[in-house]
Amino acid sequence: MKIKVSNVNTPNWREVTVRSSVPAELEKLSEMARNVWTLWNYEATDLFRSLDPALWKEVGQNPVLLLERMNFDKLEALANDKLVLKRMNDVYAKFRDYMDVEPDSKRPSVAYFSMEYGLNHVLKIYSGGLGVLAGDYLKEASDSNVDLCAIGFLYRYGYFTQSLAIDGQQIANYEAQNFGTLPLERVNDAHGQPLVVDVPYIDYVVHAYVWKVNVGRISLYLLDTDNEMNSEFDRSITHQLYGGDWENRLKQEILLGIGGILTLKALGIKKDIYHCNEGHAALINVQRLSDYVAEGLSFDQAIELVRASSLYTVHTPVPAGHDYFDEGLFGKYMSGYPQKLGISWDDLMDLGRNNPGDKGERFCMSVFACNTSQEVNGVSWMHGKVSQEMFSSIWKGYFPEESHVGYVTNGVHFPTWSAREWKQLYAKYFDSNFLYDQSNPKIWEAINNVPDEEIWNTRQTMKHKLVDYIRKQFSETWLKNQGDPSRIVSLMEKINPNALLIGFGRRFATYKRAHLLFTDLDRLSKIVNNPDRPVQFLFTGKAHPHDGAGQGLIKRIIEISRRPEFLGKIIFLENYDMQLARRLVTGVDIWLNTPTRPLEASGTSGEKALMNGVLNFSVLDGWWLEGYREKAGWALTEKRTYQNQEYQDQLDAATIYSILETEILPLYYDKNEAGYSEEWIKYIKNSISQIAPHYTMKRQLDDYYDRFYNKLAKRFHVLNADNYKKAKEIAAWKEEVAEKWDSIEVVSFEKSEELLQDSIQSGKDYTITYVIDEKGLNDAIGIELVTIFTDADGKEHVYSVEPFEVVKKEGTLYTFQATHSLSNAGSFKVAYRMYPKNPDLPHRQDFCYVRWFN
Ligand SMILES: *Cc1c(COP(=O)(O)O)cnc(C)c1O
Repeated sequence: MKIKVSNVNTPNWREVTVRSSVPAELEKLSEMARNVWTLWNYEATDLFRSLDPALWKEVGQNPVLLLERMNFDKLEALANDKLVLKRMNDVYAKFRDYMDVEPDSKRPSVAYFSMEYGLNHVLKIYSGGLGVLAGDYLKEASDSNVDLCAIGFLYRYGYFTQSLAIDGQQIANYEAQNFGTLPLERVNDAHGQPLVVDVPYIDYVVHAYVWKVNVGRISLYLLDTDNEMNSEFDRSITHQLYGGDWENRLKQEILLGIGGILTLKALGIKKDIYHCNEGHAALINVQRLSDYVAEGLSFDQAIELVRASSLYTVHTPVPAGHDYFDEGLFGKYMSGYPQKLGISWDDLMDLGRNNPGDKGERFCMSVFACNTSQEVNGVSWMHGKVSQEMFSSIWKGYFPEESHVGYVTNGVHFPTWSAREWKQLYAKYFDSNFLYDQSNPKIWEAINNVPDEEIWNTRQTMKHKLVDYIRKQFSETWLKNQGDPSRIVSLMEKINPNALLIGFGRRFATYKRAHLLFTDLDRLSKIVNNPDRPVQFLFTGKAHPHDGAGQGLIKRIIEISRRPEFLGKIIFLENYDMQLARRLVTGVDIWLNTPTRPLEASGTSGEKALMNGVLNFSVLDGWWLEGYREKAGWALTEKRTYQNQEYQDQLDAATIYSILETEILPLYYDKNEAGYSEEWIKYIKNSISQIAPHYTMKRQLDDYYDRFYNKLAKRFHVLNADNYKKAKEIAAWKEEVAEKWDSIEVVSFEKSEELLQDSIQSGKDYTITYVIDEKGLNDAIGIELVTIFTDADGKEHVYSVEPFEVVKKEGTLYTFQATHSLSNAGSFKVAYRMYPKNPDLPHRQDFCYVRWFN
């Protein structure tokens, strides 16, 4: 046989991307498509939609993909369409007006680091609240025109999309993103070649490409290791957000922190402030320290400069939420750094430990962040308090209420989260400067001038839009995963825009208590099945793929929603993302949130709802504890009645039913002849005028400047000047104090007889005198008398702190004196505390040496 059965070799396929070439006349479209500004300005979004509405929907509202998918003939036709060109030029003029403003160089500049950014549903580089907050922050930085740049990851798979199996089990799908079709651009080096940042890992380097997202005027740089220069093992570093094992997580955090700083260096970017959004990026400070040490500074000098320019924002209320790494794993990747830093391995580990020297303790990113950042903040007033407790073991000499840990309450980016209908209404009635002064409550008061009817109609429009969206978007999904078409049809018919719609959308972490509403199904059934006062609940949210309990909650809600009495009354919407979030927070009547107190660090979705005339009904926790006003929403008290969580859940559930039955439903259905409740509109007006202005992202950004950035930058520049003169001085002073600390001696101590007996009279003064041998230190210590009391829960609090005065100096001996008096009678504890004293320090925890005199 001369002829083989077959003779075919395999083709060597090469990937070719055929880009549709956009005609020169439409170049402005290409430019705007690659700036996410387009996606938070409805004139621009409308423009893209109008080019091809069907295709716009098909490409998931991605302007880059839209242009790419349009064939050449279609583009040619558009290029010749005068109306299209006019519209494009109008929007472009607005875009350029916005873009061409010079950044405000008066405010300190900031480099911002975050593991995730929620800018738009098109860019799947976020999972939930943390990311949306970071995305909103960049947009506001752009609107406020501050000098800020940001670092994150371009994930190949991002976070998962959620679908449900027929039994309600969550299915996580990871879809690869094609970077060429996203609103971003590759960053090139000086030779026009793709920029590659080499990040050292143990004894080799990982190569990262850098992409840039234009967030209005702000640049967000995204690192990407999924390229042929890396081994399979390292390509996956940027595959998934919060995926993989602890080793991958560590590799990610090295990339974000160390790689992030190396990226800024490669781009020639230097900023005043380095802001670490959650602990994931804390290793930026390892690289920044090594850079200063490489310049010739000692570690102690370097850390002065790094601390003075660092802010760490914590978002987690519980220690279990922080990232911890075993010494072995951490050493596997980080063991080269002590040498670069001029410290020992144990020194580096200790910077990440609550109890330095405790070899059993793992390296905690948050502790490291606290130890290397001058300022630390939580994300609401309450969370600030919780964080002071949570971190109190790092600064052992001080009580939580003495901690420097502060807070900035989270806000939301108004232009992103308010519906066009509301923006138009505000534009009509509010001061024309509204957008630039949007956290000014005076301006929002104008909502009271809007006719009730207009507010009601706007709300009705939004509700109808939501219901239409659900019918269109979900009928297909539901037919696929729920079988029984007749049930789906009847479900769709039951969704009623005239019912009171209550929304609940968030991550299905168990502390968010999505199940709370389902505690008493009989009572719930009576509420939702009252024909005179229909009410429907819309639930949505993803559970982390490793969170079995969270997935169990979804399953349970699905199961309940399919019972005949709840069909069409309790509805679960799959795949919560920013697009669905926007529909919900604009379309429901009430936004419900029922977290376990005090675990909601802030929460932001209720703030989005505010801007759209949606009322909040929530536990007084996170932002709502500050935001709640009477007759502007509803609240479950922040006080815990039961230590037992099960009892507390039952009580909270009963309160929810009762508030619904006796307050919310009667109010909503108290309709006048025109068909709406005047009192309800009053609530909406109160909520918009009294609450909304305080929860804009503008207010948040301004708070970061007022409370942290300005103060940091000022001190950093002082430390930086004259070749780091002040930083060196402080480091030398601290070294000297540290060296002599243990030898400082109490030479004598005098106090009156009654004090020695531990029984004193209220209102009476007692004098106390200490003579201290400072061992040659020059007035470097302070002494204070600390009085504490124990509260009803057995917790100790500071009652007063009274400083001693230096009244005499003789050789190395300092005499300190204080007058002690207590105005209240009662049972107290007193003790004396010595600390290093220096007006150049920002706060006590900056140099946490404390000796209690016994
Ligand atoms: C706003 C938002 C969140 C945050 O919601 P919380 O109120 O903090 O629970 C989560 N996911 C998406 C998609 C959002 O838009």
